[in-house]
Parts: sequence; structure tokens; C-alpha cells
Amino acid sequence: MKKKYGKLIIVPTPIGNLADMTFRAVEVLKNVVLIGAEDTRTSSKLLKHYQINTPMISYHKFNERSRVEKFLTKLKNGEDIAIISDAGTPGISDPASIIIKAAIENNIKVESLPGATAFTPALVSSGLDSERFYFAGFLPEKKSEKDSLLKELINIKDPLIFYEAPHRLHKFISSLKEAFGNRKIVIARELSKLYETYYRTSIDEVLANSDMITLKGEFVIIVEGAQEKEYSDAELTEMLQTEIDKDKSKKDAIKKVMEITRKSRNRIYDLALGLKISKNI
Ligand code: SAM
Repeated sequence: MKKKYGKLIIVPTPIGNLADMTFRAVEVLKNVVLIGAEDTRTSSKLLKHYQINTPMISYHKFNERSRVEKFLTKLKNGEDIAIISDAGTPGISDPASIIIKAAIENNIKVESLPGATAFTPALVSSGLDSERFYFAGFLPEKKSEKDSLLKELINIKDPLIFYEAPHRLHKFISSLKEAFGNRKIVIARELSKLYETYYRTSIDEVLANSDMITLKGEFVIIVEGAQEKEYSDAELTEMLQTEIDKDKSKKDAIKKVMEITRKSRNRIYDLALGLKISKNI
């Protein structure tokens, strides 16, 4: 008779408050044969707290592929394996997708436990529309890839959710300004921890007050989606001038202002004609 395969179980862990572990998550981690953890040292604190003695091996973005075979062998042998990351849900801006795909391809049952993740509380408490949303995660580091992703997001009407590290936050907000112009944003800092803070603000306000955000801890940034907004001629002219001051040609400035405002080329073109600059259209 064919041996019954084990299960691959994806287990979320707290994003800052140890008490956010579910009863089921503890039970699963106690009962599996092996836990694949992003960083075994980080997770050993959690396991110790909940008196979980299951063996752990590292499973992170640098050894993800090489670990898959080991996990598949155990799973095919009927053993259950759990995957955890340093915080939150594995597979959400964290490794896990490679083993999940491999398990599915090998007819192994995959279970994901509901649980902690950073973007859900951030979105819900942001006060922005949460009926639909776009999870963008971390922006790519390479400028060309980052610019092309932001360009794709310009016309999305639903809130956009990003993850970013504290030391890159200001640069990140400048990239948002460059791509979207001014918009409402909500910056959620240190969720579920002692210094949890929500900054419900705008891109321009953050750029104008660089000290308003404590650049320590972890951040989720929610950007309001594209709104149908009326712009006065004066506002459009100011936006054109801002682009031109960045050493853009009138043609590029018009393109950029059209992208941001989604107003007609003719109107923006006419306004640009009135602007005195050395470069030609
Ligand atoms: N798997 C995680 C999840 O389910 O949300 C995300 C892991 S990702 C490597 C780490 C990023 O998640 C951080 O840089 C930050 O953007 C966000 N994050 C994690 N914990 C957070 C917290 N307590 N408060 C705010 N953001 C957090």
C-alpha cells in the first residue's frame, strides 16, 4: 500500500507581541517532526517561550532551494513539517513560496494557518478604504525596476501597501513623491509593540518635516490610491514648474504631470506653453 504523505504546514508567528501566537500554532509546532525556520536563533526564543522542543533547521532565501529536497523526502515519508519565518506569515515578503510550490507539485497537502502579518492591522487601522487593496511589499532595490513598478501602480485606485526599512524610509517617500505627486499616506510603525504609532499624514507633509517620524523599528506604509481630483490651472502650472526645475524638458514635464494628474494633454500642454524655460517642447 502506498505510504501516506505528511503535511506541509505554514505557521505565522507574532510580529512583535509574543502573545499573538495562536493556540493552534503552538500545537502544530509541538507536533510536527521538523520546523524550517528563517533564523533558528530568532525563533528559538519563541519556541522556548511556548516550551516547544521540536527540532529546527534553517530555511531562508539563501538555502531555500537546497532545503526543498530534504523537506520533500521527509514529507513523502509521512512526516509533517512546519515552516515559520522571523515574524508574521511565511510567504508574505518572506521565504516559503519555493517549498509550497514544490509540495503542491508533489501532491503533498499544504495547510496555512491564519495568524499574524504586518499589513492587515496597518490597513485596517489606517482609516483608508480597506474594501480592496494592493499589496506591493518591498520596492525593488534596482532603480529601473523600482521606477517601472511605481509607474504600474500610478493608476490603481485602491490603497497601496508597502514594507520598508527605517533607514530607507525618507528615500522611499521621495520615490513616492516622484511617482505619484502628493497623496495621503499612513505610516504604521512598530505594530503590536510598545511604541506602536500611526502617522496619518501626506507625502508632502513628511517631506517637509523630516523629523516627524521616529526612524526606528519596523514600518508599513499605506498610500491612498489614485483619486479623481480637480486641479486648478495654478496647481498644474506649479507641478509643471517643479518638474522643469528638476532639469526636465517641457515634454517630459508634461508627460509626468499627465501621469500624476490624469488630466488632458491639451490642457497641460497649453499651460506649459506659458512657462518660460530655456528648453523647448
Ligand atoms: N512575513 C511578514 C508579514 O507577514 O508581515 C513580513 C516580513 S518582512 C521581511 C519584514 C517587514 O514587515 C518589515 O520591514 C516591516 O515593513 C514589516 N513589519 C514586520 N513587523 C512589523 C511591525 N511590528 N510593525 C510594522 N511593520 C512590520
